[in-house]
Amino acid sequence: MASTTDTLTRDKLYIGGEWVEPDGTGMIDVINPTTEEVVGSIPEGTAEDADRAVRAARTAFDSWAALSPYERARYCEAIGAQLTERGDELGALITSELGMPIGLSRMIQAGLPPLAFSSMPELVEEVAWEEEVGNSLVVREPAGVVAAITPWNYPLNQIALKVAPAMTAGCTVVVKPSEVAPLNAFVLAEACEAVGLPAGVFNLVTGYGPVVGEAIVSHPQTDMISFTGSTRAGRRVSELAAARVKPVAVELGGKSPNVILDDADLEKAVTHGVGKCFLNSGQTCSALTRMLVPRERLDAAEQIAAAVAEAYTPGDPLVDGSAMGPLVSDVQRERVRGYIEKGKQEGAKLVTGGSQPPDGLEQGYFVRPTVFSQVTTDMTIAQEEIFGPVLAIMPYDDEEDAIRIANDSEYGLAGGVWSADEERAKKMAARIRTGQVEINGGTWNPMAPFGGFKQSGHGREAGRFGLEEFLVTKSMQL
Ligand code: NDP
Repeated sequence: MASTTDTLTRDKLYIGGEWVEPDGTGMIDVINPTTEEVVGSIPEGTAEDADRAVRAARTAFDSWAALSPYERARYCEAIGAQLTERGDELGALITSELGMPIGLSRMIQAGLPPLAFSSMPELVEEVAWEEEVGNSLVVREPAGVVAAITPWNYPLNQIALKVAPAMTAGCTVVVKPSEVAPLNAFVLAEACEAVGLPAGVFNLVTGYGPVVGEAIVSHPQTDMISFTGSTRAGRRVSELAAARVKPVAVELGGKSPNVILDDADLEKAVTHGVGKCFLNSGQTCSALTRMLVPRERLDAAEQIAAAVAEAYTPGDPLVDGSAMGPLVSDVQRERVRGYIEKGKQEGAKLVTGGSQPPDGLEQGYFVRPTVFSQVTTDMTIAQEEIFGPVLAIMPYDDEEDAIRIANDSEYGLAGGVWSADEERAKKMAARIRTGQVEINGGTWNPMAPFGGFKQSGHGREAGRFGLEEFLVTKSMQL
């Protein structure tokens, strides 16, 4: 299969406005999941590197926080313009790290991060930086030095959703990206450098979570943690932060329900729902992985889902129009295959797909798009986040049963409702315990607050709510 980029060796870290030698000599290979070849390598940072970065961020804080929000937002806007200029490069780079089809990668992976940065001047206008409450002046101040830890599935966007609002709020940041898809983060550091961002406002330290991640979270000079990733790591980060009572915003996993009511256009709802499960090979935290259908429409839903899933032929993500690439890694592929086997063992009906490799794809971490039906809430595939192209269709008897199934989850990130009657759909959406619900396939809104209920986390990202997450409130009595 074609390769997108030459091997990229990044042997320096970005700390205090400079590209510096890492403390250690270890390097981590970045693997192209389509070719299984090394596409680049990055420094395996140490606790010493984390310490240097946090100190640089601390040193930069006072003068950065003294600028007006608008001045800070202008830097973000300029960074957004840099990222836009490098959009094609970023789309290809992220496809090489992650395996997302190139068209989608350009649109989503390279398209969303500039928007997060360039929206800042407008969002500054929406925040009440000062207000009067009785005889008090209430002001919003930056939270301080922020540790930003991010996963690999939407790698640059997850960084952007933290860095742009944190910097605009007046915080300085230390970013620790996932070591699985880290190369894009270096492009962001170059963009910060190119626009003349003051030294130490943005710092990048790569390496492993338990080493670099834990060091920045625990560092006495870090004030706030913004984490996106698994619930397991989110819990660990929260425990470490609790030792110094640091605020933590965590965006974690999901097992999101998509409730198709009996009056919905089934063809449309199922087709859209399969797409919402399979985006990015199912490696999307808000993927609608549980499709709830009225029991009497189960057969029809299965047939539609099978036809849609079978049209998602996995293949080379560099071929324009390709709909599904590989999973990000061998580990992830084996995990997903394990869940498919588990679904069969626990008695779910395999409608299409399976754990065997897709035909003709000997190379690359590909998995067959898979649909299970007759899934019940006691099954592992109804409860655990699979993070692969595996849909669980769950029949329900009536609306109350649908609500019970939808909310029978430790997670609460996203959801969907389909009905011919929008008011009915809204009532159902109000009873689903998740941070967002799309009605009849309502379009993704990058400015709407994003985050979870329950073990999907707390705190919100994107838009004004995302910016306010990095502010603390002070009252001055006059
Ligand atoms: P992980 O939780 O394994 O990793 C996320 C980040 O945390 C990585 O940078 C990782 O470092 C780091 N990390 C791991 N352990 C620790 C630790 N002990 N201390 C500090 N940092 C640590 O998740 P994945 O990267 O595998 O991402 C997939 C998960 O993220 C899924 O569960 C998904 O649902 C969730 N997610 C949630 C989103 C949301 O907004 N709710 C959005 C996107 C993903 P390392 O590089 O070593 O892995």
